[in-house]
Order: sequence, then structure tokens, then C-alpha cells
Amino acid sequence: MDLTITMTKHLKPKPDDSELNFGTIFTDHMFNLDYHPDQRWHNARIEPYHCIEMDPATMVLHYGQAIFEGLKAFKTSSGGIQLFRPMENIRRMNRSAHALCMKQMDENLFLESLKALIRIEKDWVPGAPGTSLYIRPTCIAMDPFLGVRSSYTFRFFIILSPVGAYYSEGFNPIKIWVTKDHVRAVRGGLGEAKTPGNYAASLYAAQKAHEAGYTQVLWLDGVELKYVEEVGSMNIFFVINDEIITPILNGSILPGITRDSVIELGKKWGMKVTERKISIDEIIEAHSSRKLQEIFGTGTAAVVSPVGELKYDDKIITVGDGQAGPVAHKFFDAITDIQYGRSKDPFGWIVPV
Ligand SMILES: *Cc1c(COP(=O)(O)O)cnc(C)c1O
Repeated sequence: MDLTITMTKHLKPKPDDSELNFGTIFTDHMFNLDYHPDQRWHNARIEPYHCIEMDPATMVLHYGQAIFEGLKAFKTSSGGIQLFRPMENIRRMNRSAHALCMKQMDENLFLESLKALIRIEKDWVPGAPGTSLYIRPTCIAMDPFLGVRSSYTFRFFIILSPVGAYYSEGFNPIKIWVTKDHVRAVRGGLGEAKTPGNYAASLYAAQKAHEAGYTQVLWLDGVELKYVEEVGSMNIFFVINDEIITPILNGSILPGITRDSVIELGKKWGMKVTERKISIDEIIEAHSSRKLQEIFGTGTAAVVSPVGELKYDDKIITVGDGQAGPVAHKFFDAITDIQYGRSKDPFGWIVPV
């Protein structure tokens, strides 16, 4: 497929690396691609970043037929730019497309379009420690129609946003709130797809957690409200008695790429890593018997997020000494060292741009 490139005539001023936070600044260009049943995917183009004009009846606005991804490009000390496991994001987006009756994309076209966009925006990849270029591929239903069915037309786009160091003031433990009043997803639903509806479903509980002084919600399974699923927009790990445990993928948990990287690294290091069902009662019990050493979340944004405190019913438990533990630290360092090219990549996770 041909890629048309239209360069902007008005370059935006670039922010200073020290001013970056998350998701507020977007680069000069974006990638766009359209789907029509007759032409299939067509009109691949890199254009100046612009608003998408749409009919108020556009289906994505009414029925939420949309999917997205999140990954990052990193600048190495020699000035190169590299991606971390991008094929995993591309494949996951295609699985999300399948789950929402949307159109899958050619994996190579996706990767090559992304690389072409990043090459044009190479000066937007920040270089200060911990900073990166966040990449947001998105696909939305475009038919102007108020009946409920799958859309016939879609728009795929990629936008880029330079983001700051997540831990500029140290590796901060978060406080999490276990809810029994709300659920994020259930088996048979869309929990394992990266789709906006899952986030819409999480807002109310997240707001209640914030009001109670907690950073994120820990979701339990939607059927028995017993087994741990994930936390906010991260997967979750427990270190109990030197064993690293994470909930097994059951159809309602998002299969995180950082989660998979932690599992692979832990196994390579000879740690005992187990994917299985784990109940909230088991965690409370492990804490009482002093076997609960660490809890941490994993996701592209923070990589690893240590949990210092957990509230469940009327119980508030402090994890370890409330500070980041050594296991969380070791995974954070190992993954970020690979991402920024500071250490060798024995897994083939890095794709140069
Ligand atoms: C994206 C996401 C994650 C983390 O996935 P990564 O691939 O590690 O970034 C975890 N949970 C939810 C709900 C997510 O949307």
C-alpha cells in the first residue's frame, strides 16, 4: 500500500524535557487509514496532526465500537530510537478488533506505518532519563447511523505524545482500594480487549477510591467477587513466600505486555513465577502470617508500580514496610534497562526504528 506524506508548514514549539507529564502534548503529524468494505483498508497517509470531523451520528460516539493500544518509543544513549515489543501491541490490537467486530490490520503495514511516523517525528522523542514518546494507535467505527450493528467503515489513526519520567520523585508506592461494589469486566465480556468501554466502566469506582484517598482500584472477579483480577489499568503481582504470583488470564483480564515481560524475566532468573487464581482472602491471610512480601502493578505507563497499602472492607494492610520492595525494583530496572538500550536484550524484545 502506498503511503502519502503531507508535511505540516507550522511546526509546533517542542516542550522542554523537564516540563513533560502524560498525554497533554501531541506531535506535529499523525497517521490515518480508512476502511471501506469495497476498498478494504486504503488511503494510508501521514498528515499534519488535526481534528477529526465527524457526523454527530457517527457510531463510535453512540455505541463505543472502538479499540486502542499504548506503547512507547525510547531514545538510547547513542541517539537511536527503539520500540519495546511492538508486535505484541499490534497482535493484541488485532485481537481487540476481532472481539469488537472491527477490521484487523496487516501486521507489517501497521509496524511500517508506525516506524515511518516516528522517523518523521524523531525530534519529538525526548532524551532525558525516564522520558519517552508514547504511541496511541486507535480505531473507531465511522458509519453515521443510529441503529445498533457493527459499523461498515472505520478510521484507524496513530498519534504520538512525548511523556515525562513516571518516577521523577522516586519509585513511589501507591495505595489501592479493593472494591466489592463494582466490577470492571466479566468472563465472556470485553475485559481482555483494550476498548474504551472498560475504562468507562472503571470511572465510578476509581472516583470513589480517590475520594477515600486511594490511587487505584483493585478489581475482583465479576462472578464471585473473590479472585483478584487487576488494578486500575495495570496487571498485578504478589510476592508471597518468595513466590511471584499473578492472576491467570481468564478472559476478563487484559493480557498486559509488561505482565508477560515480568513473567519471562522472572523465569529466566530462576524465580518461582506462578500464574493462577488468587483470592483476596489468600492475600489477607498471607499478610497476617507475614508471608506477603510485595505487591506491584505492571503496565506500559509506569512499567512497575509498587503497592504500599491495600484497603479491603474494614481492613487496611501495609505491604512490607510500605516502601517499594526489591523484587519490584529489580523488574523495573531490568525492563527499563532493555527499553533504553542500557543492557543487552536476550529476548528479542527491541525493534529499532
Ligand atoms: C493496557 C492495560 C494494561 C497493561 O498492559 P501493558 O501491555 O503492560 O501496557 C493492564 N490493564 C488494562 C485494563 C489495560 O488497558
